[in-house]
Amino acid sequence: AWSAAFQNEPFTDFNQPEHREAFLKALAAVKGQLGHRYPVVIGGKEVYTEQELVSRNPGHVREVVGRMSQAGTDLAEQAMQQAQKSFATWKRTTATERAALLLKAASLLRQRKHEFSAWMVVEAGKNWAEADADTAEAIDFMEYYAREAVRLSETSLHQPLPRVPGEENRLQYIPLGVGIIIPPWNFPLAICAGMTTAAVVTGNTVLLKPASNTSVIAYQFFKLMKEAGFPDGVINFVPGSGAVIGDYLTAHPQTRFISFTGSKEVGLRINKLAAEQAEGQIWIKRVVAEMGGKDGIVVDETADLEAAAKAIVVSAFGYQGQKCSAGSRAIIVESVYDQVLARVTELTNLLEVGPAEDNAPVGPVIDEKSRDKILEYIGIGREEGRLVTGGEQVGEAGNYIRPAIFTDVPVKGRIMQEEIFGPVLAVVPARDWEEAIEIYNDTEFGLTGSFFSTDENRISAALERMHCGNLYVNRKCTGALVGGQPFGGFNMSGTDSKAGGHDYLLLFTQAKVTSRKL
Ligand code: NAP
Repeated sequence: AWSAAFQNEPFTDFNQPEHREAFLKALAAVKGQLGHRYPVVIGGKEVYTEQELVSRNPGHVREVVGRMSQAGTDLAEQAMQQAQKSFATWKRTTATERAALLLKAASLLRQRKHEFSAWMVVEAGKNWAEADADTAEAIDFMEYYAREAVRLSETSLHQPLPRVPGEENRLQYIPLGVGIIIPPWNFPLAICAGMTTAAVVTGNTVLLKPASNTSVIAYQFFKLMKEAGFPDGVINFVPGSGAVIGDYLTAHPQTRFISFTGSKEVGLRINKLAAEQAEGQIWIKRVVAEMGGKDGIVVDETADLEAAAKAIVVSAFGYQGQKCSAGSRAIIVESVYDQVLARVTELTNLLEVGPAEDNAPVGPVIDEKSRDKILEYIGIGREEGRLVTGGEQVGEAGNYIRPAIFTDVPVKGRIMQEEIFGPVLAVVPARDWEEAIEIYNDTEFGLTGSFFSTDENRISAALERMHCGNLYVNRKCTGALVGGQPFGGFNMSGTDSKAGGHDYLLLFTQAKVTSRKL
């Protein structure tokens, strides 16, 4: 129940044989369900389309994970009308009723967590621990937002208004309307679930347009919500091309809000399109856009260098560097630079590259397009600087790239400035810790960062000066926890919505004040 305090879902310890066995079983079960066809679902009605997107295992590209029906603008329009209709009744439910459904969904997901993680191994190329963390985060979002929705509905607790003699004043958070939910593929369960559930638990209805690369996982989530008891039409499952139905729905006059997580390019496009008033549109659309990063780790000469080297490698190459929080830059004070670089290189060379199913530390990148883009950046890196290790494509049947480290790159170089979203790390020296912080801040992004030092004065200065939404001290810059580390970035990293924090649900509501004469 939501009266119990929120607690993060523990990660699975795969060193325990029984957990390994359970996971292998889940993987086998998922492997037995590959290749199915999946529908668009509007108001509970399943529509199988002629046009399909073939979702493939990024580690074995000949393996078809599923065939996903594709909504064009006609089905997108039908889904919009359905969501409008469902909003009329869903908005009248109480926060407690909606939260109860969400807690039910969390409990179902907890029971079937390995099955969901296994889908991510197969469709997203996550190794076991990465997939398990993704599922745990999805459970966290559900548990957290259920409690938050109830808290927000108790406005006397949340925002007590000062008494005005002779009047009774109230403030209530009411839903916005129909929202478009557009998640990325890289946290195919957690972010998809977090974005969707935040919107519906506050009383909105949505069109969920999943990331094409991981639409089968999104479908499994959608089914789970149905099983938990969310009425048909509250969440409409609308897979399709981002370029086609994304633009159509963003520009739609009945769209009240767009909740997007993905690249800077698409986020800015949505922001611009949404800003224009379509014919018949009677509100300013709200845009929540969480975008990319060029995150980094700063290490000074007083730091625990072994811990720093380990954190740099995990942050740069965890899930093949395909996290918005990935530490793609390491900025090291000169006097310890050679030592740290040598250790980072050594640790990186130990990373095995192989299939996610086999739980290799470094698996495939998401698809051919992404692989080619990363290889192109590796070419740019060779021109801009010096390749210390890695960077070559491995194997034939998948999208494997050996983790790459560059040095001697200019601070303004593309490798230091642009989000590559793959296993590519740039390591640069700085004269001292202050210059290191300046280099850290010298990007258009501002999502995550870490500062490694044992000097208290420098730590306080770094906490103030490093300009990002999520800043860590003496630890990796990936792996924010729901509740404890609300997540969102500054500058071109997005609207700083702080997912998994107290302020997040407010973004899907509007405050209505009523004042009654006594
Ligand atoms: P993406 O290419 O921007 O796609 C994100 C979503 O937008 C997908 O569902 C995509 O659909 C859709 N889309 C594409 N074009 C669209 C359009 N014109 N209108 C509306 N929607 C459209 O990003 P991605 O490759 O999936 O994800 C990686 C990016 O996400 C990285 O930049 C990463 O840093 C960022 N990210 C940020 C956070 C954060 O919290 N700040 C978290 C995770 C990831 P299709 O799949 O059909 O193209």
